[in-house]
Amino acid sequence: MNETVSRLLDAYRAEFTEKLQAWVRIPSVQGAPEDGAPFGREVRHMLDAAEADAKAMGFPVRDFDGYACDITLGDRPEMIAVLGHLDVVPAGDGWNYPPFGAEMDGTRMYGRGTSDDKGPALASLYAMRAIREAGIPLRKSIRLILGCNEETDWKDMEWYAAHAEIPAVGFSPDASFPVINTEKAIIHLRFTAPETGSGLQVIEMATGERPNVIPGECTAVVRGGEELAEKVRAWGAEKNLPVAAETVPEGIRITAEGIPGHSAYPEGRRNAIGMMICLLRDLGAEGPLKVLADAVGMTHDGSGLGCACSDAVSGPLTCNMGILHLKDGAWTGTLDMRCPVNADLPALRDAAKAHLPGFEVETLEMKPAHHVPADSELVTQLLAAYEEETGLPGETVATGGGTYAKVLSQGVAFGATFPDDEDLAHQANEYADMDRLITAAKIYANALIRLAGE
Ligand SMILES: [Zn+2]
Repeated sequence: MNETVSRLLDAYRAEFTEKLQAWVRIPSVQGAPEDGAPFGREVRHMLDAAEADAKAMGFPVRDFDGYACDITLGDRPEMIAVLGHLDVVPAGDGWNYPPFGAEMDGTRMYGRGTSDDKGPALASLYAMRAIREAGIPLRKSIRLILGCNEETDWKDMEWYAAHAEIPAVGFSPDASFPVINTEKAIIHLRFTAPETGSGLQVIEMATGERPNVIPGECTAVVRGGEELAEKVRAWGAEKNLPVAAETVPEGIRITAEGIPGHSAYPEGRRNAIGMMICLLRDLGAEGPLKVLADAVGMTHDGSGLGCACSDAVSGPLTCNMGILHLKDGAWTGTLDMRCPVNADLPALRDAAKAHLPGFEVETLEMKPAHHVPADSELVTQLLAAYEEETGLPGETVATGGGTYAKVLSQGVAFGATFPDDEDLAHQANEYADMDRLITAAKIYANALIRLAGE
């Protein structure tokens, strides 16, 4: 791309590093609302810092009552949007570095928000600065919108949309390269059935709190003695699955150990509820548990629910049972299905209902897919910028997860992690590599020149 822009971005490196450290040291986790600070004092603090930095670079900045800000380059009516966020999730445990210390280790900066999403947001801002300082003529304006509530409720974008016009086209540097242009549709179902009382007697079971989590452990208390406990162990040995059983006063307590994860990415995970219900069915459970074990069990493709499907742009449907509770004589649980773009959502819901005889099934959520065609101007230009700056092959990617990009009607997620990076968003020891952030800034500048340049 433009040599001057590239050189400028290299030259900003020390300042970029220092600014990002200052941003990361503000623990902008959502807090109690205050005047002008709807997401708490620290988030407000962070927004002030970002606004001050953008103003110091000479950009016009608008504040939206502490919900978000926007920073604009150019005065053309047509716009390309870049959408990032300044809030972070809490630090959590397990850090080897102070989570808000922004400590450098070689070229890596460690800290909450370094990669999600302060680093990529700042890389976008420096890309805009380089474009301006290089004097690149623009036929469209570039608008960086920085939200303050992405990690929880997206109230920032609701507010922004009510007080400003959201550009139609753009990208969100809040995920990974090359380009995520497809987000699957989401169906959340809740099912309920009375326990029939026949077969194996389950006394207690309550696993999971959220539909979108693959439970990592499931325990149940069932009536029986040492003989039954032996059968549990034999089942585990035969299937080569980690289950355990111990006798307790009411019967035996069974534990199934899964591999936890996010429901949108079931590959390589193991749902502990699925293990448990298959085990209980094989031990003689009847009624609702048997229905669930047959229809869902340990699968995650929806096949037993008559829902298995797939299309070329999205890949296969995924299905997760995140919750299953026995309470007051009834079973209640949830299914979280991530569905291909072309899927008929009501038909999938009806198929699932039909495969759960005896259950009442209620739709908690039915969210359409978000898709920007791979041959659109936006996607082809972003991929070209990525290929030019990295020499790596560009391709479009589908996700079962949600990204900030769908705030824009033609929005895609674009960086800033690279295909071989470990994804540490929301985890301990989150870091950003400054070499890679500079490369990301060059990709963003390249892309913005292609989309908005004359
Ligand atoms: Zn994020």
